[in-house]
Amino acid sequence: MIDIPKPDIETLIKLQEAESEIVRIKTVLEKVEKEKLKLNVKLKQFGNALEENKENLLSAEAACRDIEREIHIVDDRIIKSNEKLRMVKTNKEYQLFLREVDDSKKRKDALETELIEHLDEKEKIEQIVLESEKEYNLLKDQIEAEQKDIEKKSVDDRELLDEYLNRQKEIGKSLDPSLMNRFARISKMNKGLAVINVNKEVCMGCFMNIPPQLYIEVQRGNSLISCPQCSRILYYINT
Ligand SMILES: [Zn+2]
Repeated sequence: MIDIPKPDIETLIKLQEAESEIVRIKTVLEKVEKEKLKLNVKLKQFGNALEENKENLLSAEAACRDIEREIHIVDDRIIKSNEKLRMVKTNKEYQLFLREVDDSKKRKDALETELIEHLDEKEKIEQIVLESEKEYNLLKDQIEAEQKDIEKKSVDDRELLDEYLNRQKEIGKSLDPSLMNRFARISKMNKGLAVINVNKEVCMGCFMNIPPQLYIEVQRGNSLISCPQCSRILYYINT
């Protein structure tokens, strides 16, 4: 227990007022940051979905190109088989190349059917990409507007925070550094509430009863008394 002049408790109360505001504003700003983060995560999720749809489209396009390429190869084969057909000398050869042409034509038919299916699929994916692109851009604009709004609001809070931090620094100048350390330590332990009044022998920080002798000392205010339970610096207001 350090004996200190009485005015210190008043300074500590002012320090506490600033501290409470600082804690309050910091909580608001943290919430704002979390909100911004949440919006970013949401946008990223939509962005990822869009990317996935775009990749699906690329594979669908590649599948179509593969089939088209194969159709060209079969076309060439048909041309070659027809050429051979024109130059055959035996009936056996004729039958053979005729079957070759026939087989190739069947293969081409099958490929063309497959291509139509793939083109349909590609069209569907194109539509999905267009829609998710639209959705993403809409969300992006919306989120950017929301974040701008949030940012604008928190500018005021940040200014206020600086103001209270400066005020606390100013108040701290008149206090002993060891007392400032004690204040900071107790504040950290008690979510920003280091100085608290006593009402009817009860600490208003932790609501524990203060022993009568200690209560008298708090009332006297000749020294800084800490609550035995929560360590908060106690003060008494005569009401
Ligand atoms: Zn207490």
